[in-house]
Amino acid sequence: EPTQTTVEPSVDAPKTPAMGEEVVIRLDNVNKWFGHFHVLKDINLDVRRGERVVVCGPSGSGKSTVIRCINRLEEHQQGDIIVNGVTLTNDVKAIEAIRKDVGMVFQSFNLFPHLTVLENLILGPIWVNKTPRKEAVDTAMYYLERVKIPEQASKYPGQLSGGQQQRVAIARSLCMKPSIMLFDEPTSALDPEMIKEVLDVMVELAQEGMTMICVTHEMGFARSVADTVVFMADGQIVEKNSPKELFANPQEERTRQFLSQII
Ligand code: ADP
Ligand code: MG
Repeated sequence: EPTQTTVEPSVDAPKTPAMGEEVVIRLDNVNKWFGHFHVLKDINLDVRRGERVVVCGPSGSGKSTVIRCINRLEEHQQGDIIVNGVTLTNDVKAIEAIRKDVGMVFQSFNLFPHLTVLENLILGPIWVNKTPRKEAVDTAMYYLERVKIPEQASKYPGQLSGGQQQRVAIARSLCMKPSIMLFDEPTSALDPEMIKEVLDVMVELAQEGMTMICVTHEMGFARSVADTVVFMADGQIVEKNSPKELFANPQEERTRQFLSQII
């Protein structure tokens, strides 16, 4: 699973971001099982407002499951997950509140193929947030400019390259005005020449102070924007540190092994 490409984003995020003290995501002793399989083992993680967290680790280590639990695409069985002060339970109102505020971008772009780019972008704002159409269109065009493909607004996803589709997916998330963005290997399905255009958009978001958790093996990205890198293996957080420390001075053998394969 680790990709061999190391793409250095063209812009460096400031290293002293507006990272606040406020904890916006807290995972407190989170455990999860798929049947008998213990997929998440005592996961503890605090993410502060404006913090950029990169999660890496071997395939099957539970990275996707962790971030899917944060917006309740998966249910955990033990421990607490608290997002923006709301504890995740089966309370549908709480789940809706969290999903409104937490955007997610997947490896597969998950755009509606039968809708144009613009229609993909205004769907959530109009139907979920009850935004007036005109305002939803203006917001959609603003974010399409931001991801540098306003000229693609009336095309269908199938007419776009993978990199363009992923940028549409990011814009679609941003149209919901989330305060937290979760990325699950957003560049893994892309051809190498398209990775950078997606990473550049993510770097810009990071520079603006978006709270982000990114599962990625793009270590150039981790180095230039992450405040914290989390290394997972076998359902556990093995090690967590600043990218500088983690890459230069991994404390655990498993971390060392993993890094030697991808850097
Ligand atoms: P990663 O994202 O690090 O590759 P995942 O979180 O996707 O890992 O998966 C962790 C483990 O849980 C893997 O062994 C995977 O096969 C298993 N798993 C993931 N989703 C399910 C599911 N819905 N049912 C059963 N097992 C699952
Ligand atoms: Mg995964």
